[in-house]
Formats: sequence, C-alpha cells, structure tokens
Amino acid sequence: MISPDLPDIIKKTENSLRISEAEALMLFRDADLLMLGQMAQKTMTKFHASGRATFQIDRNINYTNICESRCRFCAFYREKTDHDAYLLNEEEIFQKVREAVSLGATQIMLQGGLHPDLDMEYFEGVVKKIKAHFDVFVHSFSPPRNISSGKACRVVRKGCAAPFKKGRA
Ligand code: SF4
Repeated sequence: MISPDLPDIIKKTENSLRISEAEALMLFRDADLLMLGQMAQKTMTKFHASGRATFQIDRNINYTNICESRCRFCAFYREKTDHDAYLLNEEEIFQKVREAVSLGATQIMLQGGLHPDLDMEYFEGVVKKIKAHFDVFVHSFSPPRNISSGKACRVVRKGCAAPFKKGRA
C-alpha cells in the first residue's frame, strides 16, 4: 500500500528540506520510478547548476568464465571441459568495446575467471590494442587475476603490473 505521507515527502524534497531515513525509504519503496528520477535530476541541478554529474558509462566485459580458483560460492565459473565454458577471442572483446563506445562509454572493465592459460603477455596485448583503437579508460584486473597470470608467465610479481601502469589499465 502506498503511504499517504508520500505527497508531503515529495513536497519536502521540492523545497530542498532534509528528509529522514524512513522518508527516503518510503520514497524508494512507493514513488513511481520515473518520478523519482525526475526528482533526483531536479535535486542534482540545484547543487550542480552546470548540469555536470559525476557518473560515467562503463561496460563490464567478462572475457571468460573458465576459472581455476573454483570458489565454492561462485555460480559463474566453469571448467574448461564444461559445455558452456567460453573464452572470448580478441575480435569478440573489441566488438563489445566498440558497442560500448558507440553508446558513450568512457570506461571498460575487463573481468573474468582465472583462466590458467592466459598470461601477462596476453592481457598486455589486449589492453594495448584496446588503447590503440578506442579512447577509453581500461579499469581492470583484480589482484587474484594478476597473481594467476603472473604464475602463468613465470615473471616476478612486482614486474607484472608495469605494462598495465603505463597504459593506465
Ligand atoms: S575467482 Fe571469481 S570467477 Fe573464479 S571461482 Fe572465484 S568468484 Fe568465480
């Protein structure tokens, strides 16, 4: 049931009055989503007259679901031999970057399973090609992934990150 207090809460936000946590929760639960978006937009322009908002369009590309970590809670990972295991090839990755950039993305996140055959050279090559063809920030790779691919290429851990730092990946 929609709270009868909703109109008063909406009025408060229109008048730039602080609302309580309970009222915010009521808005979240009961207000129409589009109306909530419009209210948020109005509030944002009160604080940022230039219309500048601090968000960015980003795409998360899961390049593989093959993972040697096998975390017990994870429903995403697959063994290499599983029928639905996959590893995107470079062109498939670039196509996803292309789609994202055409929709205004300024950032790409490459994230995937800890594939035992993908080494640092592989990731360095992919990131370099993305940076060469697209004007995007590449925000990627977790510490476990770096340790895993560092093992695969048998390089000293400390040196693993150097090529990515240069590309701000
Ligand atoms: S490392 Fe990530 S992808 Fe791999 S099993 Fe764990 S949660 Fe899943």
